[in-house]
Amino acid sequence: MPTPIISKRAAIYADVPDEKWNDWRWQLSHRLNSAEEIEKVIPLIDSERKALQTQGIFRVDVTPYFISLIDPDDPNDPVRKQIIPLAEELNSFTAMMEDSLAEDRHSPVPGLVHRYPDRVLMLVTTQCASYCRYCTRSRIVGDPGQTFNKQEFEMQIEYLKRTPQVRDVLLSGGDPLVLAPKVLEELLTRLREIQHIEIVRIGSRVPVFMPMRVTQELCDMLGKFHPLWLNIHVNHPNEISLELAQACDRLTRAGIPLGNQSVLLAGVNDCAHLQRELVQKLTRIRVRPYYLYQCDLVEGAGHFRTPVAKGIEIIEALRGHTSGYAVPQFIVDAPGGGGKIPLMPNYLLSMSDHKIIVRNYEGYVTTYEEPTEYKVHDPKTCKFCQEKRPEPGQAGITGMLDGDQMFIKPEGFDELHDRGGIQHRLKDESKWKPLGIGSGESAD
Ligand SMILES: *Cc1c(COP(=O)(O)O)cnc(C)c1O
Repeated sequence: MPTPIISKRAAIYADVPDEKWNDWRWQLSHRLNSAEEIEKVIPLIDSERKALQTQGIFRVDVTPYFISLIDPDDPNDPVRKQIIPLAEELNSFTAMMEDSLAEDRHSPVPGLVHRYPDRVLMLVTTQCASYCRYCTRSRIVGDPGQTFNKQEFEMQIEYLKRTPQVRDVLLSGGDPLVLAPKVLEELLTRLREIQHIEIVRIGSRVPVFMPMRVTQELCDMLGKFHPLWLNIHVNHPNEISLELAQACDRLTRAGIPLGNQSVLLAGVNDCAHLQRELVQKLTRIRVRPYYLYQCDLVEGAGHFRTPVAKGIEIIEALRGHTSGYAVPQFIVDAPGGGGKIPLMPNYLLSMSDHKIIVRNYEGYVTTYEEPTEYKVHDPKTCKFCQEKRPEPGQAGITGMLDGDQMFIKPEGFDELHDRGGIQHRLKDESKWKPLGIGSGESAD
């Protein structure tokens, strides 16, 4: 029997009338953010109380709906750890950074991150419905004095208009779904006016923190801007409630494909069997697991970090063991702006010039014979090779495979290996004889 998808409400909210509970405005205005308020719902431990009473801590806010998913008697509850701060948050660690993904360096205009050739990340607000303690953008998120900025938005639109290689715009923040619907609609309208923008994506945890915000009206509005995709952010099976399931149903019925991005967090979801339950439960509500992220090297997240090997172990426990649809990509977002790098177990064990040796999830080792006849793909007669190549300078490793580029050198490589340039004796023209078949001479 699959685990039931249920609805929960903390005891102190038992008397709140349903029409208030199900009204997102009520949820937003009744968010909890101090030790006193939170203590009325769950008894706090010392470390939590200390963190909540520390000045300057990354903003705390929790919706009544989301806090209700916590088991008040369990100090290690996996939902609790995501949104109630611990004193450990104040600890620094080796390699900790403020902007670990170097997003600020990749910003051509404020709030726009152009890291990859064909897509941009657009930060449209600094506000969220609740605040994840391990937030990768805690440096900018949560500041109540800053929200959607019209002037910055105009600069972003201007950049996008002038940058035709951008075909995919990813709205994030903060959480785009906390914007007033009129503002969001205006924003989407303006993006849709730009012909070269093919798809728009939204990254939002609103369906998880406040599923009542995903009204039919909101879905109807979003449905006008297709092709529109949405990624939600669920980390633990306990977050998959009846309310979330219904919100996802409204979104998918509006034609919006749903994905999930989760973060691998110590003490929250660092268990392969829990992850299998999570991804299976997600597919039941028609959400396709997209990425599982290694925790970023960001301030406040030190106590959430796991070894990278944990992610490999999780993928090993998913691939083959459950539906391929349910298996996310495990991603390390490389510090310093290296971008997203997928990691996975090795399935290719060895190879020769005519066969490869591979293993499956069961440890079954087998061979795959390579074809003996392969008519090499001819780029000269291929329309896509002629017209759809990456821009020079952005082709990366694929450019080395199919282009003229022979190497990628680390910075300073040439200087380091320039050791004076004394001519090698074999380059002495008088001693130089060509070698090889047909030269008619031996190579002595
Ligand atoms: C994650 C991210 C994207 C989107 O990456 P996909 O792999 O296409 O989902 C785009 N821009 C930036 C800066 C990102 O961090």
